[in-house]
Amino acid sequence: MSSKVAIVTGANKGIGFAIVRGLCKRFDGVVYLTSRDIERGKKAVADLEKVGLKPKFHQLDITDKKSVEVFRDYIKEKYGGIDVLVNNAAIAFKAAATEPQSVQAEQTLFVNYFSLVSTCEILFPILKNGARVVNVSSSAGHLSRIPSQALKDRLSDEKLTIPELSKLMQDYIDAVKRGSYAEEWGKSSYVVSKVGVSALTNIQQRLVNDRDIKVNSVHPGYVDTDMTSHQGPLTIDEGAAAPLYLALDAPDSVRGKYLWHDKDIVEW
Ligand code: NDP
Repeated sequence: MSSKVAIVTGANKGIGFAIVRGLCKRFDGVVYLTSRDIERGKKAVADLEKVGLKPKFHQLDITDKKSVEVFRDYIKEKYGGIDVLVNNAAIAFKAAATEPQSVQAEQTLFVNYFSLVSTCEILFPILKNGARVVNVSSSAGHLSRIPSQALKDRLSDEKLTIPELSKLMQDYIDAVKRGSYAEEWGKSSYVVSKVGVSALTNIQQRLVNDRDIKVNSVHPGYVDTDMTSHQGPLTIDEGAAAPLYLALDAPDSVRGKYLWHDKDIVEW
């Protein structure tokens, strides 16, 4: 029988690295540390090998469909499918960034939302029965961060489809380009992208409800990483705790939920 397989995206540093470290200690199977950059990924694997852990490495750039397809084919051929998928990779512009809002909106949504959608479209068909998917969202992904009640109603509509959600995310980018967005969407592209991640999680769970698959999103806490310019008070292992709980321990009833870093289920 082939081994169980766990995969973490954007795992060469930060919270993703700590999720791989935690999985290596506890997951009963093979753990893939993936990274868009081969050198950075292999260096991270070497760092874990120094402490006796044995993650495997594969290149994976979530913005590059070819890269995701190559990875999917490799995993399918070698192991038959995926047991744990942690969608951790993301970007955030710094508050001091000088790129125009329209560029920030397009790039942030492209990586954090649209590339998550395309990566899942490619990888979900090889999820095994019993699989767990963890979408790393944020406190910024809470629905209350969107000012417009009409948008909130739309985003939380139980009949919303992925194409409809993607259209809303594109509407946001178009509104930023027109300069008329803040009243409805708020001022942060990162917020919109992570609200998109949590809305997507709800839809993804509905789509796999007929199979034994759990999809949840999680706010990992405010963590000391490059993304926060090391301002967050939590260590990367503390930030990895709730994602690891969802990847390994959460009961069957936890499906399509939004969790806080203390593992509490928060109403979205
Ligand atoms: P880091 O910036 O430290 O790490 C982000 C990781 O994502 C890096 O490995 C980066 O790779 C990778 N990445 C970026 N783009 C891509 C891509 N196209 N393909 C594959 N990998 C990519 O961030 P954190 O560890 O802080 O964040 C991890 C997750 O947690 C993110 O989803 C973030 O939004 C979320 N989060 C973080 C919080 C915090 O306080 N830190 C709070 C709330 C949520 P590379 O090194 O090559 O750039």
